[in-house]
Amino acid sequence: MCTINDIRNAVSNGLSRGDALSLFNQCDFKALAKVADELTTQLTGDTVTFVNNVVINYTNVCVAQCPICAFYRPKGHPEAYLRSPQEVVKGVLEAKARYSITELHINGGFHPDLTVEYFEELFSSVKKAAPDVTIKGPTAAEVDFYARIWRMSTREVLERFRNAGLDALSGGGAEILSEDVRRVITPYKFNAEAWLKISMEAHELGLKTNSTMLYGHIEAPQHIVNHIFSIRELQEKTHGILLFIPIKFIPWNTKLYRDGLVKGPAPAELDVKVAAISRLILGDSVKRIGAYWTSVGKRMASTLLMAGANDLVGTMINEQVLRQAGSVEPIKPTTVAELAHIVREIGKRPFLRDTFHVKLTEVNQ
Ligand code: SF4
Repeated sequence: MCTINDIRNAVSNGLSRGDALSLFNQCDFKALAKVADELTTQLTGDTVTFVNNVVINYTNVCVAQCPICAFYRPKGHPEAYLRSPQEVVKGVLEAKARYSITELHINGGFHPDLTVEYFEELFSSVKKAAPDVTIKGPTAAEVDFYARIWRMSTREVLERFRNAGLDALSGGGAEILSEDVRRVITPYKFNAEAWLKISMEAHELGLKTNSTMLYGHIEAPQHIVNHIFSIRELQEKTHGILLFIPIKFIPWNTKLYRDGLVKGPAPAELDVKVAAISRLILGDSVKRIGAYWTSVGKRMASTLLMAGANDLVGTMINEQVLRQAGSVEPIKPTTVAELAHIVREIGKRPFLRDTFHVKLTEVNQ
């Protein structure tokens, strides 16, 4: 089942999990990419979108200490920090003045001392100072952790955040939605069911979300396929997912690498296969699939834009989580013009979008 026509037929007949796994395991990555690109082109033409955003982490203190993470610091560590709402506002205003960003992407660790009032002040202060900047914030994992320490329901936390000014969730914390993998890579984080439940609650409360998948560590192909089917099933129920972002695991500074459970980054062939199978499984349920250049690098991102992906996620000014893990992308901020160039190089058209994929403006610079 591996000619291009075989793949086309399998997709048009409706892929089961078993079919998708066979395609993933048996087909050449170039054939998968070709069919995925055809489907993406039918869906969104030659457009590639991204948002101009700044990333601010409110804290790097995290009690979860996941073996996949090089970002966290224990409380009291000389490099540990916690930013006040005023510092975050200052960072947003600076990024707006300097780079014309339209989105704040804000995440952090599980800080045991933070209160719900801290987040309410943070979101409302940003909204007041920069009402035209969208706040795309905490992962479902952070919502789960803070709900537990504040003894609230996750729905209540989401409601309080939304009422204070939060516009959307960033979709992180999904990793791989299978417990056998999560037990090893994120042993002290919530489970897959909780990620799905909190994402659904967010959608019910009118908060749109992105969704992610971390691949290239200890997972097997069936975990990848099952994860993408879980995303599709959630989307079919709620229609609240804006973008699916496969994130390549960068191992260098992580415990998983030090312990020898991962020997190095996954091969480029896997990057292409993951982007392609994402489109083949998601079909038109999630319109945009990310080529996340901060994890795969800009060169590979442009390849993924010919293999089913159609969004470069964002300029991600100041991204730190992948950089701490050893990402090769340079420290200097990436501009809109630079990302637009990547898109035009492969004969597609770059568009700046807002967080909600509603307002699109073609980039001509
Ligand atoms: S991945 Fe998230 S939850 Fe895990 S240690 Fe890093 S910041 Fe904490």
